[in-house]
Amino acid sequence: EHVKPTNFIHQIIESDIADEKVAGGQVVTRFPPEPNGYLHIGHAKSICLNFGTAAKYQGLCNLRFDDTNPEKESQEYIDAIAEDVRWLGFKWDGDIRYTSDYFEQLYQWALYLIANGKAYVDSLSAHEMREFRGNLTEPGKNSPYRERSVAENLELFERMRNGEFDEGDCALRVKIDMAAPNMNLRDPVIYRIRKAHHHQTGDKWCIYPSYDFAHGQSDALEGVTHSICTLEFEDHRPLYDWFIANLPVPAQPRQYEFARLNLNYTITSKRKLKLLVDEQHVSGWDDPRMPTISGLRRRGFTPASIRNFCDMIGVTRSNGVVDMGMLESAVRDDLDANAPRAMCVTRPLKVTVSNFAEGEEEWFELPAHPKDESMGLRKVSFGRNLLIEQEDFEEEKPRKWKRLAPGDAVRLRGAYVITCNEVIKDAAGNLVELICSYDPATKGENPTGYKPNGVIHWVNADHSVPCEVRLYDRLFTEANPEADKAVDFQTHLNPGSLEILTDSRVEIGLKHAVAEAHYQFERLGYFSVDKDSDESRLVLNRTVTLRDSWVK
Ligand code: ATP
Ligand code: MG
Ligand code: MG
Repeated sequence: EHVKPTNFIHQIIESDIADEKVAGGQVVTRFPPEPNGYLHIGHAKSICLNFGTAAKYQGLCNLRFDDTNPEKESQEYIDAIAEDVRWLGFKWDGDIRYTSDYFEQLYQWALYLIANGKAYVDSLSAHEMREFRGNLTEPGKNSPYRERSVAENLELFERMRNGEFDEGDCALRVKIDMAAPNMNLRDPVIYRIRKAHHHQTGDKWCIYPSYDFAHGQSDALEGVTHSICTLEFEDHRPLYDWFIANLPVPAQPRQYEFARLNLNYTITSKRKLKLLVDEQHVSGWDDPRMPTISGLRRRGFTPASIRNFCDMIGVTRSNGVVDMGMLESAVRDDLDANAPRAMCVTRPLKVTVSNFAEGEEEWFELPAHPKDESMGLRKVSFGRNLLIEQEDFEEEKPRKWKRLAPGDAVRLRGAYVITCNEVIKDAAGNLVELICSYDPATKGENPTGYKPNGVIHWVNADHSVPCEVRLYDRLFTEANPEADKAVDFQTHLNPGSLEILTDSRVEIGLKHAVAEAHYQFERLGYFSVDKDSDESRLVLNRTVTLRDSWVK
C-alpha cells in the first residue's frame, strides 16, 4: 500500500560495507538518550533507526545514557527509558551503558589535550565568555587566559577536579579558532564545574564533560561505527571529528544526521512535555494524551504500530511535519487485524424486551474476530433487560435513519430483531426506557414481512460489566502549538481533550480483562484497558476511532 520510503542511512552503510570501510566488519550503532525525561514518539524514530539498522546489517546497537547533566537527570527516567525501549521490541547489546562509565577516560583525554597545548583553563565568567565569543557576523576574541602555560593549566584543572573552585569560576576549553565561522569551533568549553550529586557516580566528580567532548569519544570507546543523530547536531560534526582526530581514541566513528520527527497537534520536546507534567495539565508522563512512548502505550498503541509508523515515515534529511492521522492509521491497521471484537454501550438507554421471560437468559456465540476464525468465539448474554446506546434511538427519526425509532425494528448485533413499541419518559419529559418486543424467528434469519432499519450494539443490563470509558481528543487545538512565539504553547491546550463516561457497560467477557488488553468495540473504535482498572472498576481508554476523524 505504501511506497517503500527511502532511508539514506542504509544507503551509506551499504556503500561502507561494499568499500570495506566498516571497522571490524560489524555495524555498531547506539541510542543515546539523556535521562532527563520520558521518551516521546520522536525518540521512537531514532530507536527504530538505530536498532533497526543494526539488526538489518547483523550488527549491534547499544543503549547509552548520555548522563553529563546530573542536576536534570534521575534514576526514574533511566528506568522508564529502558522499559520503553524494551517494550518497543528492541534489545541492546550487553549491559546498559552510561557516558559516566567513561568519566575517568575522558578526564585523561582532557589532560592529554592540555599536555599538547590544545586545551586551557579559562577564568572568564560565563558572561564574559559570551561577549568574547562574537557572533555570526563578528569573529570572537581570544580570552586573556588562552596562553596559560601547560603546567599552569594542568595545575588549575587538577584543582578544578579537586573541588577548589566554585561553579562558574573557571572552565576547560579547547583551543581551536575564535574566528571560526562555525561558532561551535570557537574554543568550546569541554569541562565545567558542577557541585551536584550524580545518579551514577555519586559525589566522585565535581567537573563534568560537555556533550560534545563526551559523545564521539564514547562512540569510539564502544566501537560505534555509525553515530546517528538529528540534524541540529550537524554543526557539531566538525567538533566531533576534531576530537576524534586530536585524541588517541581506539576507533574512528562517524556522525550522520537525519531529520527529527515533528507531529502536528502535539509537541516533541522532553523539556516542554515536562512542563505539561509539572504544571499538571496532564496526569503524568504516561497520560494517554501525551506523545510519550508510555502515554501511547497506555492509550493502547502497540509496539508494532509504532514501529510500522516509523517505517512509513522513512528517514531523510529534510525537516517536515507528519500528520497525526498517520500514527493513528498505523495503530488502526494493527488493531483491525489483531484486536478481538466486543460490544460496549457508552451512554446507556434502558430497553425492556417485554416478550422475553423475566429472569431468563440466552447465550449467543459470536466470532471474536470477523475475519480471523483462529481467534475463536465469544459468548454474549441476552435477556429481558438490555441497554443500547442513547444515540441509537430517535423519537423523531431523520430521513434514512439506520437505527431505532418508535414503531420501527432494528437488529441487535448477533442476536434478534427488536421492535420499539412504547417510549417511557419521566415527569420532566426525559426519555428513560423503551419497551420493545423481540422476534424469535430472527435468530440468524431475516424477518419476513418487515425490514429492520439497521444493526446496533447492545449489552444485557443484568449480565454485563460496568465500566468507565475515557475518550480522547487531540492535546492541542493548533496544528503547531509552538508556531506563535509570542504566547506560551500551553495556551493552545485543548480543554476538551479528555471526556470521561462513568456509566458505561461492556459485554460480560471483559469481566477479567487485564491492563493493556486491546479490543475493538463495535462501531465505537479501538479501546485498551487502563492500568487504573481494578476488580471493582474497569477503565477503558479509546485508542482511536474506527475511521480517520482528523481534519486534514
Ligand atoms: P528533547 O529535545 O525532546 O529533550 P533530545 O534530543 O534532547 O530531545 P535526547 O535524549 O538527547 O533528547 O535524544 C536521544 C536521541 O533521540 C538523540 O540521538 C536525538 O537526536 C534523538 N531524538 C530526539 N528527538 C527526536 C525527534 N523528534 N525525532 C527523531 N529523533 C529524535
Ligand atoms: Mg535534550
Ligand atoms: Mg539531547
